[in-house]
Amino acid sequence: MSDYLVKALAYDGQVRAYAARTTDTVSEAQRRHQTWPTASAALGRAITAGVMMGAMLKGDDKLTIKIDGGGPIGTILVDSNAKGEVRGYVTNPHVHFDLNEHGKLDVAKAVGTNGMLTVVKDLGLRDFFTGQVPIISGELGEDFTYYFASSEQVPSSVGVGVLVNPDNTILAAGGFIIQLMPGTEEKTIDQIENRLRTIPPVSRMVEKGLTPEEILEELLGKGNVKVLETLPVAFVCRCSRERIADALISLGAQEIQDIIDKEGYAEASCHFCNETYRFTKEELEQLKQLANAKEE
Ligand SMILES: [Zn+2]
Repeated sequence: MSDYLVKALAYDGQVRAYAARTTDTVSEAQRRHQTWPTASAALGRAITAGVMMGAMLKGDDKLTIKIDGGGPIGTILVDSNAKGEVRGYVTNPHVHFDLNEHGKLDVAKAVGTNGMLTVVKDLGLRDFFTGQVPIISGELGEDFTYYFASSEQVPSSVGVGVLVNPDNTILAAGGFIIQLMPGTEEKTIDQIENRLRTIPPVSRMVEKGLTPEEILEELLGKGNVKVLETLPVAFVCRCSRERIADALISLGAQEIQDIIDKEGYAEASCHFCNETYRFTKEELEQLKQLANAKEE
């Protein structure tokens, strides 16, 4: 099974639901950033929530999630869009702690609980929506739940999880978001809350091979779920050699000459995907000429 997400309705449209398998996507993030297990879980949970939140957007809209909890991992940054594309990084990928008292990766310790979760939606034509909430748990699922309730006024339940193998690779990753529409009946809410209390962690369901559709059936009951759309999910970064070259040109001819004199080459890495772009002395000379032409 490759990664994908589903958008669905349940209980005759009273409930909107999303579920995703993100094992390959989080694996790609882990491989690119060489994250240690606790950092992988933190980044993977944020990526999983991010890709589902991206699926709530339309067309070319994008969103950025910034999580700054004051913990050793630093900042988590995730970008996603309506096409199932997501990318992300953490400031300090080499963070790992012993399992917490529940036998799980101690994401809260890595993220910290002293800071903010910020969501910026780029809705095109300079139309931005920014929502910000304090980090209340650091486990991230609860923090996104709180974000939806507080910033978007949508009662929601967000579950995100990552399992890591002993060799630091990713065993399973996935998540769900359940949202109650205005006027949801009490008995529907009770049923969902009861199920949420008894279901296994979402990462275990993914590990067992449950599809996103089956995860929603576990959460909402078989026969209740109407899938509206499925969307492939992948780690995608839109950085390129041309963009890095443009950034070098914008430094100006003098600055480029300084690099040539001091280093003899330039190397720049993309924060989001950790791809490294190297420019030789000859290439820098060409960029310097372009910068010169711009300055004249
Ligand atoms: Zn990149």
